[in-house]
Amino acid sequence: MSTIAQNLQAVDASILAAASAAGRAREAIGLLAVSKTFPPEAVLEAIAAGQHAFGENYLQEALDKMTAVSRAVPAQEIAWHFIGPIQSNKTRPIAQHFDWVHTVERLKIAQRLSEQRPEDKAPLNICLQVNISGEASKSGAAPEELEALAQAVAQLPRLRLRGLMAIPEPETEFDRQRAAFHRLRNLFEGLNAKGMEMDTLSMGMSSDLQAAIAEGATIVRVGSAIFGSRHYE
Ligand SMILES: *Cc1c(COP(=O)(O)O)cnc(C)c1O
Repeated sequence: MSTIAQNLQAVDASILAAASAAGRAREAIGLLAVSKTFPPEAVLEAIAAGQHAFGENYLQEALDKMTAVSRAVPAQEIAWHFIGPIQSNKTRPIAQHFDWVHTVERLKIAQRLSEQRPEDKAPLNICLQVNISGEASKSGAAPEELEALAQAVAQLPRLRLRGLMAIPEPETEFDRQRAAFHRLRNLFEGLNAKGMEMDTLSMGMSSDLQAAIAEGATIVRVGSAIFGSRHYE
């Protein structure tokens, strides 16, 4: 078995353990394999091991990888998730080529993605990125702005607002990791209580996925635990 296949098994086992500990069904948690900086061959190995959803941060790298992967396995249905910072002049290829975007933090970007989403594709799945670490982080909408942003994004015709995403400041202690994810969960539940119909909490990476699952993550975004450590970014 390849290293990537073995790593996927180990990650799956930790998702299962965290789900059981939280009294949640394993099927309620999706694994997004974050393949940024790794070549198409690594993605193909993961596909051979049964993985079908991949997260990418850098647009040009992602487009090249998608082309290589679809040439190699044209019949495979792969879901591609954009999880990197979005510049407004790069929204068109994102709207054309991805199935999900996790990093929407401004209405202007959402409007462009909606306008540019091709008619022959399903609406683009969107998560709003929230800054739950305050001053320590520059990315994500402020919690105070979130409700207005969510209401506006939910109206856009070619988008489907699925949920919230966050990248908390790194913490090593489980309880502190969990406290950050708890803030995102509270915001999510608060918006749904006001009538939003979101089903996705995108939170948890290689080093904190157990805490994220304890707080209700429905997508964990895992890179290095599957593909190994990244040598550049
Ligand atoms: C790189 C990245 C990940 C994966 O991080 P690992 O620590 O390698 O698991 C997850 N989410 C986002 C937004 C990333 O940029």
